Amino acid sequence: MATATDTKPDDTDEETALETARRQLARAAAHLDVDDGVIERLEHPDRVQRVSVPLERDDGSWEVYTGYRAQHDSVRGPFKGGLRFHPEVSEDECIGLSMWMTWKCAVMDLPFGGGKGGIVVDPKDLSEDEVERLTRRFAEELRDSIGPNHDIPAPDMGTGPQEMAWFMDAYSMQEGETTPGVVTGKPPVVGGSYGREKAPGRSVGIVAKEAIEYYDYDIEDVTVAVQGFGSVGANAARYLDDRGADVVAVSDVDGAIYDPDGLDTRDVQDHDERPGMVSGYEHADSLDNADLLELDVDVLIPAAVGNVITADNVNDVKADIVVEGANGPTTSAADRVLEERGVEVIPDILANAGGVTVSYFEWLQDINRRKWSLERVNEELETEMLKAWDAVREEVEARDCTWRDAAYVVALSRVADAHEARGLWP
Ligand code: GLU
Repeated sequence: MATATDTKPDDTDEETALETARRQLARAAAHLDVDDGVIERLEHPDRVQRVSVPLERDDGSWEVYTGYRAQHDSVRGPFKGGLRFHPEVSEDECIGLSMWMTWKCAVMDLPFGGGKGGIVVDPKDLSEDEVERLTRRFAEELRDSIGPNHDIPAPDMGTGPQEMAWFMDAYSMQEGETTPGVVTGKPPVVGGSYGREKAPGRSVGIVAKEAIEYYDYDIEDVTVAVQGFGSVGANAARYLDDRGADVVAVSDVDGAIYDPDGLDTRDVQDHDERPGMVSGYEHADSLDNADLLELDVDVLIPAAVGNVITADNVNDVKADIVVEGANGPTTSAADRVLEERGVEVIPDILANAGGVTVSYFEWLQDINRRKWSLERVNEELETEMLKAWDAVREEVEARDCTWRDAAYVVALSRVADAHEARGLWP
């Protein structure tokens, strides 16, 4: 069991997603013999589009929102990545997150590159009709730069299957034909894949189980805490609970609950199923949200938002293994402290990559006009996750490096090899 120590984080936590992404690229590059020009190319996105998205509010007034689409790299295939509706969306954040998508797709060996976009908006301030109009207009503003062979968005923070259905419909109306492959994460009735919604949480569960076994724990004896009981956290928790682990604590934005004997993860409904259910749950003790991260558990799964394990609380994290369900939950400064303390961090680009992997299955189904069964999706997801896990594990063993560095090495070597094989045009 790793113990909390006083190792001092040596750097500031104030890093943007783009700075973090560039720092991680530099770390991975140090392990590999990649041409400097290729690395320089990968420090920058291919293209960033900034659009104004006008919306007629329900009361007839107009409001204009800012939207972005960052396209980082397409050497291995079309750009791929989510669209978030969130007040903190910024150009730099979209670029940084699009870089992460490049690595996420490459570590999974998917024939996609990285993209990410979003609108600076809090969707909770809008009615459903307003969100629909905003989504349709955003699809129209992005229409020239997206497409099933060029750039394929997906859900992210603040968006889900319904937004993807509206997005697909708006795009298809202008194309004059139903084009389900333009976006993934749709409801199954309009070309969405079975299993897509649960896939990110499922992949976190699959990878956490591999890590548990790799470090010689018996899953029946393992304790797990999950921060963020939304779709990712709840599905990861249930996957591990079903395989014998004790999920002792879970939280949502309103609070956390704790039962040292293990919670019934199906009885606790997730934040999307019933908001407020976690904090209102009566069959367990309540806990401060911040304290959940500091519980003495074997596995900690931060599955809520970015930057939650920071220089300020990293010394109080007592878990032996951290499996990143959210994108970027650990700051670079905190990451270094965890490394020094020997806490194993299974990075987001591997752990939650089930989402984009089933997005790839969805895209294959759409462009081939076929439907896969849920069983097939889950089986193929498991196969792909285990393949990626093995590729990363081999690098961990060969280089004696962190899981994050190993995942980046796997991803960067695939992307860099593709750049070198294709060369520059003209
Ligand atoms: N937004 C998700 C992610 O960060 C999914 C992207 C996709 O399916 O294209 O991985």
